[in-house]
Amino acid sequence: MLANAPGTAIAEASLTQRKHILIVEDELLIRDMVATALRDEGYEVSVAPTGQDAVRLLNLDRSATPAPPLDLVILDLMLPQVNGLDLCRLLRQHNNPVPILILSAKASETDRVIGLEVGADDYLTKPFSMRELVARCRALLRRQSMGQFQPPDVLQHGELSLYSQECRVLVKGQEVALSPKEFRLLELFMKHPRRVWSRDRLLEQIWGMDFIGDSKTVDVHIRWLREKIEIDPSKPEYIVTVRGFGYRFG
Ligand code: CA
Repeated sequence: MLANAPGTAIAEASLTQRKHILIVEDELLIRDMVATALRDEGYEVSVAPTGQDAVRLLNLDRSATPAPPLDLVILDLMLPQVNGLDLCRLLRQHNNPVPILILSAKASETDRVIGLEVGADDYLTKPFSMRELVARCRALLRRQSMGQFQPPDVLQHGELSLYSQECRVLVKGQEVALSPKEFRLLELFMKHPRRVWSRDRLLEQIWGMDFIGDSKTVDVHIRWLREKIEIDPSKPEYIVTVRGFGYRFG
């Protein structure tokens, strides 16, 4: 197991880059089959049996439940409660750039065109071959990790601006120098405003799962980050401590 071999570059790369896929599908058989195939490929898989479950999982209803960071959504169109097209529209309206692959029994050209027009990135009709589905997922994830789905715009909150591609952060228009870890922490926070992160989850996201050390590392980096971006680091407004849980942004 790679997880038992900390310190090797290969283990770190494969674990920190483990992609998370959400399957939105009401048919149990298909859902299980696709989930199993993707887990066998090494992906982390979440499932939503209804459109409403997906809305909640993706935090589109802005409920307290934090959205897990997702790298790909596989979306059925005919779903109970909220249908796939509406879900697709909602995601894009929320500026969520996650790649979407529609998996649908609706095979007409019009359906495909509508699907792509509301913001899906690929379309596969049922019945489908599992090999083709996995290959298409892989292709979308490759494009995603090359940054092709990232919005080029700046992340902004109050007087704080973060330019992802330029690795630059401005506070009140003044550039501040952040270390790579501080930058990645801030970027993660700003991409998921108000989401509460536990120290362990932050360690996993920023340091990688085979990081050897304890969660105090996170506290230390948060303190440094606050000193650089907060007006008053003792009364932080951007990175807030959520007692008993961890931290959240905003
Ligand atoms: Ca269905």
